[in-house]
Amino acid sequence: MTAAISIDILTLFPEMLAGPLDRGVIGRARTAGLIDIASHNIRDWTTDRHRIVDDSAFGGGSGMVMKPEPLAAAIEECRRNSGWVVLLSPQGQLLNQGLALELSKRNHLVLVCGRYEGVDDRVQSLFVDQEISIGDYVLTGGELPALVVAETVARLVPGVLSKEDSTVHDSHAAGLLEHPHFTRPRRFRGQEVPDVLLSGDHDAIARWRHLESLRRTLLRRPDLVEARGLQNDEENWLWDEEPDAMRRLKWKHQDQGPSGALENLAES
Ligand code: SAM
Repeated sequence: MTAAISIDILTLFPEMLAGPLDRGVIGRARTAGLIDIASHNIRDWTTDRHRIVDDSAFGGGSGMVMKPEPLAAAIEECRRNSGWVVLLSPQGQLLNQGLALELSKRNHLVLVCGRYEGVDDRVQSLFVDQEISIGDYVLTGGELPALVVAETVARLVPGVLSKEDSTVHDSHAAGLLEHPHFTRPRRFRGQEVPDVLLSGDHDAIARWRHLESLRRTLLRRPDLVEARGLQNDEENWLWDEEPDAMRRLKWKHQDQGPSGALENLAES
């Protein structure tokens, strides 16, 4: 079977990647040949006796910078003809579900993990198609971000998840957080599972899940509700159920002027 996507990860610490890539959904998808993930040690592209990959920064400063030559050689060999080269960097485009979906449609990614102060900037300008950040904080290396990108992309590849685990209802798939989940026992430490989930009425369950997804998103991530907007019936329901949170959203929206997504949000 030809893998739907190949991911080459360039790193100074390939041993950091092995465990997470070998287990769970990703491990199974690799074994089944649905995705092909390989990690490569950037030192293998050095040409000197000491396999040096870093050097001091021009202009001074205490931090080291990843040298361009081994990285350039590694990228050129690994990207072959088709690879989309991604540099993990706190300065990059923030990863979200939409970006992960775009990446999952490519057939070959090359993920470059920085270390130290980062990589010589000419690597970025000469070889990198996209810089991606996993959040507004700084880690010591790109290995954990590369794993985050590889995992979020891989689970979107058709066939990697079983039908039951499908991603369509996941948080962020349609601009909302997912509804709450419950399993046995029905009563736990005084808390009951909502009756509707035990009713067997599939329409009622679907409606409950949708409304709880809206409620959750409004309470936890009102910015997502603003970005998505609300249908009239959704808006009316939220005004009934969560008037304080709706008022906060309305005030925020008024502060922002008339360009917000909930321009016509009326207090009912
Ligand atoms: N000096 C850099 C700066 O301030 O932008 C930070 C370098 S960081 C210590 C070393 C490497 O970790 C980066 O080259 C990058 O590959 C990775 N890294 C750190 N934080 C990251 C983040 N939030 N997202 C993606 N990669 C990150």
